[in-house]
Amino acid sequence: MIDANCPACGETERLQGKREGNAIELHCLACDEVWERDLNPTCRQCGGTDMQAVPKAIVEKGRGTQLSVVGTRTVHLCSECDRETLVAYHRNRPNPLMPDQLPTVSELPGD
Ligand SMILES: [Zn+2]
Ligand SMILES: [Zn+2]
Repeated sequence: MIDANCPACGETERLQGKREGNAIELHCLACDEVWERDLNPTCRQCGGTDMQAVPKAIVEKGRGTQLSVVGTRTVHLCSECDRETLVAYHRNRPNPLMPDQLPTVSELPGD
């Protein structure tokens, strides 16, 4: 059994894992998302193992003040040390977590 959930759709059952070195490449059969999971992610601050993998936005600042999300990468957050960040992330799902330090902008570009 894989202790994970899909960062894209939250699926926890229909996941396929494939070992890739020190990580597991996971494939969500529900939405086709593919991501990597460290085998034993531990918190660098408290050493805890209660980590959650969340997609974090990769943001690029273009000309002027416009920011654009160019992709996501999976980061592991500690349920203890990063609790507030996790709460904010779950509140905004399915949007990815935004980087901590954003240049000041009034609004992200809409569609
Ligand atoms: Zn999924
Ligand atoms: Zn921690």
